[in-house]
Amino acid sequence: SSDPFDFAATVRAIPDYPKKGIVFRDITTLLGDARAFRRTIDELVQPWAGSKIDKVAGIEARGFIVGGAVAHQLSAGFVPIRKKGKLPYETVRVSYALEYGIDEIEMHVDAVEPGERVILVDDLIATGGTAEGAIKLLRGKGAIVEAACFIIDLPVLGGADKLRAMDVPVRTLISFD
Ligand code: IMP
Repeated sequence: SSDPFDFAATVRAIPDYPKKGIVFRDITTLLGDARAFRRTIDELVQPWAGSKIDKVAGIEARGFIVGGAVAHQLSAGFVPIRKKGKLPYETVRVSYALEYGIDEIEMHVDAVEPGERVILVDDLIATGGTAEGAIKLLRGKGAIVEAACFIIDLPVLGGADKLRAMDVPVRTLISFD
């Protein structure tokens, strides 16, 4: 599987969604393509194949799909990070900035143990605000965030650089301007 694969060609662009002027990157076309989905997971985890990763943390909702597959591939556990009010047990919560206003994400208090090695996964990184919040939750419980992996990077928004400045290695497969 070292032949080049055009991941970007399997992602659909939706103009003016969810609002005018935004081009939404829709990964449902990638997920629905068996070969593209397999290749995406293989390439995302390639640097950690064979290394000891305890948990994969995925951000609601598309990060659950990608993160579940990554966790299986690495023989790791899976940790859901969700919008507030969705998790049933006791949680830790963090606020993060949106374009307009703030939102909050949560994780179960016992989702990770101190010293556990965790990879964070989501479908796309834009400003990095969501991932930054997730890293704070994981580190707040003593986890070691080994890396953050995203299928898509929007580099002009600076999210990947923001995470690297927090000493988190970032891996992405596709960049869109
Ligand atoms: P950030 O917090 O600004 O980095 O935004 C990233 C979050 O917004 C991720 O959870 C993404 O799933 C979601 N997101 C932002 N833009 C897009 C897009 O174009 N396609 C899919 N998800 C997006």
